[in-house]
Amino acid sequence: MEEGETARVKVVASLDLFADFARQVGGDRLNVSNLIPAGADPHTYEPVPSRVAKLTKADLVIVNGLRLEAALEDVIEENTPSSTPIVELSEGLPAISSDDHDGNPHLWLDVQNAIAYVERIRDALVEIDPAGAETYRANADSYLAELRTLDAEVATAIDSIPSDRRKLVTFHDAFSYLAQRYGLQVVDVVVASPGKEPSAKDVANLVDAIAAEEVPAVFKEPQFNARILELAADDAGVEVCTLYSGTLDKKVNTYVKLMRFNARELARCLG
Ligand SMILES: [Zn+2]
Repeated sequence: MEEGETARVKVVASLDLFADFARQVGGDRLNVSNLIPAGADPHTYEPVPSRVAKLTKADLVIVNGLRLEAALEDVIEENTPSSTPIVELSEGLPAISSDDHDGNPHLWLDVQNAIAYVERIRDALVEIDPAGAETYRANADSYLAELRTLDAEVATAIDSIPSDRRKLVTFHDAFSYLAQRYGLQVVDVVVASPGKEPSAKDVANLVDAIAAEEVPAVFKEPQFNARILELAADDAGVEVCTLYSGTLDKKVNTYVKLMRFNARELARCLG
């Protein structure tokens, strides 16, 4: 380990998206890692020992809550030191109800909620590392300004889509907050919850919904097998496009890039 490395504040976030938020706020003061690797599905991912080991040394743990990390909850509880705060980013924010959760967990796809997440991370860092307060506040201020610009940019892109074409069919139920904030309608999803297999009837209903609502395109997500969505799109004669929901990759490797990609893809495929 390099000189100075040990002195850094160790932050473990569940998703790479939240690790990105922490890096934006903490910069060089932090050593940030994520439990769920890029490209994995947060709902069902079970962590490997090397990632769990990071928890035992963490100064701060960041999770979403609302059962997003259902498969990780016990691991986090058992391995986080009792003196280490666990920040639940969605806590107290207005949640949209969903079929099999207390609330739909994907709040960050509305940039206003991402802003609340970042403010919460900033406050937690100031609390555990007061010596860095000025740095955290200054970094957060400039990042929050970037997010407010992003919010307007996403709104403008979606406003360019004719209102009768602002319809979403996606793999899983991740885009309700995006739809609510920017004026889209969620028509259907392939699975109510990842990890469950859709039945033949579900797929038939999906094809019917795409046709009945005259949905211009459907959206796969990089972390899920798109076969069923491709079959349904083929049957209905519409294009398959891509939206990112909860995980990054090499090309789309920050939250800002994720939202920007989604906004452009929505405008391209629905507009
Ligand atoms: Zn999800």
